Amino acid sequence: MRWLDAAADLRGQTFRNVVLIKLQMPDAIWVDGRPGWQRLGRRVARGASGIRIVASGRDIDRLTGPVQGHGVATVWDVTQTEGRLPSRGMVGTVRPQDVYAVLARVAADAGFRVERGPLRDAPSGAVTDLQRRRVTVSEELDGSVAVMSLAHQLAHLRMHKLSRNSGCHGLVRLEAESVAYVTLARFGVLPEYQMASSVATLGRRPPVRLVETLGGRVVAAAGRLIDSTERYLPAPQILRGAARSEPISFDTQDRELDRGL
Ligand SMILES: [Zn+2]
Repeated sequence: MRWLDAAADLRGQTFRNVVLIKLQMPDAIWVDGRPGWQRLGRRVARGASGIRIVASGRDIDRLTGPVQGHGVATVWDVTQTEGRLPSRGMVGTVRPQDVYAVLARVAADAGFRVERGPLRDAPSGAVTDLQRRRVTVSEELDGSVAVMSLAHQLAHLRMHKLSRNSGCHGLVRLEAESVAYVTLARFGVLPEYQMASSVATLGRRPPVRLVETLGGRVVAAAGRLIDSTERYLPAPQILRGAARSEPISFDTQDRELDRGL
């Protein structure tokens, strides 16, 4: 769950880069390259040592490693930059019902109607009917729990194409739960939540290859779902991280930054 939180913070990064960034700077919550910060009107502080990530295409600093077209790029955390923070998208809170409404629109874009109704025997709190192109969320759920169930179904739709939840167990269930978790974390509307039963699927010491594959699939799918959602509702960048219970330290004298928080 800590890695999923990190993936929600470090939006747009691959799972591999989320791991690389957190290993180099555990407190990083918002990273970008030099041009990205310049576009936001900020500059990298003099002497700040950057965070190295794996990149492809034009972001590469230098070509290294065995994979052609891949290399190392450098990003910096917001705490390593100076200047004004853009005010748009930094203030206001997103309510669970807003995210629910927007996820329902995302489902509608894919041709699925979302409705509430009585459900028996739906452990995730919702079912998807592929034939009738309908997602039913249990009428007994509300708030962020209902959002979680809807996001879980959208994750299945995009990743697994389950028929009436048959097959929602083991790694498939863990993937859907994880994608829903990252998406809700991004908008700061996570319910009180423990993923213990699904995580138990992995066992105490899961093989590295499995974690890498699973993490990669989850972070990529969550990124696409967040992209679709943000077409209708931008997620506030700073507030989301600051709303967490864990403290996020800002090692800076920058007053503009403090005001943004
Ligand atoms: Zn499921």
